[in-house]
Amino acid sequence: MRGSFANLLFPVKLTFELSYRIPPPLEGKVVRGSHVLAPFGNKVITGLVTKVFDTPPDFQGLIKDITEIAGTGGASEKEIAFIEWMAQYYMCTPGEVLKAAVGNSIDVTPPKMSNQKKETSKLVNETNNCIKTGRLTREQTYVLDCCRKNIKANIPTLIKGVTGSGKTEIYMELAKEQLSQGKSVLYMVPEIALSKQLTDRLTEHFGRHLLVFHSKMTPAARKKVRESIRNYQEPSIILGLRSSLFLPFDELGLIVVDEEHDNSYKQSDPAPRYNGRDAALMLARIHGAGIVLGSATPSLESIYNCHSGRFSLVELNHKYHSAGTTTTEVIDTIREGQKGSMEGLFSRRTLDAIGQRLQKNEQVLVFRNRRSYSPLVQCMYCGDIPYCNNCNVSLNYHKKRSILKCHYCEYAIRYNTICTKCGRPGLKERGCGTEMIEEQLRFFFPGSKVARFDAETTSSKVNEEKLLSDFAAGNTDILVGTQMISKGFDFERLTLIVLVQADSMFSTDDFRASEKAMQLLVQLAGRSGRRDTRGHIIVQTARPDNQVYIDFVEGEDGMARELQERKEFGYPPFVRLVRISVKHPSKERVEGFCDIIARKLPEWGVIDFTGPVPPPVERVKREYILNFWVKLKRNTDSPTIKSTIFAGIESLVREAGRGVSVGFDPDPL
Ligand SMILES: [Zn+2]
Ligand SMILES: [Zn+2]
Repeated sequence: MRGSFANLLFPVKLTFELSYRIPPPLEGKVVRGSHVLAPFGNKVITGLVTKVFDTPPDFQGLIKDITEIAGTGGASEKEIAFIEWMAQYYMCTPGEVLKAAVGNSIDVTPPKMSNQKKETSKLVNETNNCIKTGRLTREQTYVLDCCRKNIKANIPTLIKGVTGSGKTEIYMELAKEQLSQGKSVLYMVPEIALSKQLTDRLTEHFGRHLLVFHSKMTPAARKKVRESIRNYQEPSIILGLRSSLFLPFDELGLIVVDEEHDNSYKQSDPAPRYNGRDAALMLARIHGAGIVLGSATPSLESIYNCHSGRFSLVELNHKYHSAGTTTTEVIDTIREGQKGSMEGLFSRRTLDAIGQRLQKNEQVLVFRNRRSYSPLVQCMYCGDIPYCNNCNVSLNYHKKRSILKCHYCEYAIRYNTICTKCGRPGLKERGCGTEMIEEQLRFFFPGSKVARFDAETTSSKVNEEKLLSDFAAGNTDILVGTQMISKGFDFERLTLIVLVQADSMFSTDDFRASEKAMQLLVQLAGRSGRRDTRGHIIVQTARPDNQVYIDFVEGEDGMARELQERKEFGYPPFVRLVRISVKHPSKERVEGFCDIIARKLPEWGVIDFTGPVPPPVERVKREYILNFWVKLKRNTDSPTIKSTIFAGIESLVREAGRGVSVGFDPDPL
């Protein structure tokens, strides 16, 4: 419609939209969805037009003019709908979603030409010729058929299939079918860095139709992908992380969410704190596209959705142990210690097992979910533990760099053994991290090559790729790593996986701990014993009677029991949980503001909540934190209550909470 004024959305956190005047030469050209340049603060930046209207806005002062139309082709109704849904569901402003979508600025690209689509069919024929596919097993063919039917019927499919059961071939076959109909495919993975094997494979099959998109790419490379999707000329398959959901899709036919259980799909900071899997379901709905989720260890959320009939479940290989490729052993480190059978961090049995594998020229992976040399140091005279200045957490000891470092902020100090409290040379490491494990393994296996894969050693992409390619090529014998190592890649000669101090998987008061631990164990098991080699996994634990280990050894996943417990105690997926975090440098301010929220929540319709309660680390980066945990009923009035809470707290912050920051995390992990 024609109009003289427009509301603009900018990629910043604003709880309201800004109105601008459309100068006469641009009237009729500026429409909802246009990208335009307009003065904002002392800059001119790109905004998205959400509304065009004629009545002058009720505004004190001079209304500014839109400067010009940005040549980006604009956003479609579907993109706007997705932004609006995400802001509402994830309790943030549309501007924050826009920022997540485009960064600080919207790229300026040549305008879209409308006649380009006519060439599509010709290109599609060509597409068919350059896509190769292999042959599928009977089981795969059955699953493929189910997926096809579900896509037609608009029902999400969950494929539960062990690592190596051939999910990827099914995804590729489905993708090929979409491309041949001129439709694009979004193929989501949790960690692109570890998916070089997948990228190579997809490149081989889809050639130039494959586009890769992730946040570690240069802005120019990202822009190129975005443009190529916006100026749709031929269908493509986009391999990307959660951020790829914001690409300007036009002809989207299918979304694949591989490893759907993975926590990396969740954005923890800043808002929107969205889960890529759940947002993908909404994106598919907006586009009328099919969606297929896959995992060896599906999330309880997805299992629940299958039980309630929202998803259709298909399985590839029922039990992950039935193939007989991986055997499991749990070692009780307390008992081993009493027998005098512990050598440093390892039981003698573990060391023997590692030695045997190395002798056969096979590879070993040692897992520990704590990086650093040791998570804390303590004075043996006075018991003092050095803490971070900015956070309420002990400093980690990094031996090679000889520093004590906080993993929550950048704070670090030189390490020496002198205790600052009593002045005596009493500081000693307590507990172990990956660096200590690496050191001990070098000591026990002096002839072997040991490498470490954690946030510290992979801080540069070059190092990360080198570590992985060295291990894949067999140049490394033992790889020590954190959670990062459990994801999405295969090593043919890896036959033994060892978990050291496995119980730390349960050390937090996280209601998802058992689910996450089982997922990790199964994912790790899936990394070993591919093809004709037989894998073995050793869990070193002080709590061998933990039900998760018992289930794992028996080849059960224990998820039915877990689901039952969640139901009994009223936890997700049976309710919707929202975490509200309140932060301020002054403890009194946080407490005072939380008192107000606690009084208001029932007024806003919240019946069930706990809080304010401090998180495990209650002070981070010089700010005190208190949390509320709000429980909402599923599929009922939760959208309205969420909006009420968000608007209510935002206005409280403006009135009474200057300087207080509040973060909303719906469906926290
Ligand atoms: Zn001391
Ligand atoms: Zn800190």
